[in-house]
Amino acid sequence: MSDRTPLMAGNWKMNLNHLEAIAHVQKLAFALAEKDYEAVEVAVLPPFTDLRSVQTLVDGDKLKIKYGAQDISAHDSGAYTGEISGPMLSKLKCTYVAIGHSERRQYHAETDEICNGKVKAAFRNDLTPILCVGEGLDIRKAGQQVPYTLAQLDGALEDVPAEQAETIVIAYEPVWAIGTGEVATPEDAQEVCGAIRGRLAELYSQELADKVRIQYGGSVKSGNVAAIMAQPDVDGALIGGAALDADEFVKIVRFRD
Ligand code: PEP
Repeated sequence: MSDRTPLMAGNWKMNLNHLEAIAHVQKLAFALAEKDYEAVEVAVLPPFTDLRSVQTLVDGDKLKIKYGAQDISAHDSGAYTGEISGPMLSKLKCTYVAIGHSERRQYHAETDEICNGKVKAAFRNDLTPILCVGEGLDIRKAGQQVPYTLAQLDGALEDVPAEQAETIVIAYEPVWAIGTGEVATPEDAQEVCGAIRGRLAELYSQELADKVRIQYGGSVKSGNVAAIMAQPDVDGALIGGAALDADEFVKIVRFRD
């Protein structure tokens, strides 16, 4: 077993307003016990408008739940209407920021080059990127999932130095498994997560690759998480739909029980 602490992160997407966010995080806080946080790191990625509420709750109650944003601007300030910058997120004491989620790539035309700029913006502002990569169904059917995903990784990590890259989190999320109920088999997840670790070793070093946490994401639920987490190169999960149900999310966090 590796000594990487698993990271279970809930991506709320565009769900829960700031009042609902407070109720949800309170439920998580009541349900999670000290030992849960020792076993895994728990994070939530709420919409931007919820972050201040979540911060206040977490600060006030000394909760161990970490939080972050679902996106970041590649720029630190300026005339970029509607965008949210790294300095704004770090001021809110975010730990994480998701970058290159497939919904951003699909609906907002985010390329690997754009993701690279966002990864750099995150590191510049002391935020840990959760870089999302993964293939669509056509690529999977063509058997090209590994080269496709590694090309996304290469693009997003261009000119990112080792001292930053060693703290990144990579989320392997096959697009065909996101929100579809179609979960990748544990072997499918291992194949690509293992290849990602191999590429990190080539790009940087084996030592660095062994430190990086690689999550699987795509229809993770309490019923399938343990088998996925049993894979040697899977170090956590990025959870969408199931993260909106506090009881279910807690069961996922307790995958070892
Ligand atoms: C996601 O949004 O990153 C995700 C994995 O969603 P779901 O768990 O609903 O498939």
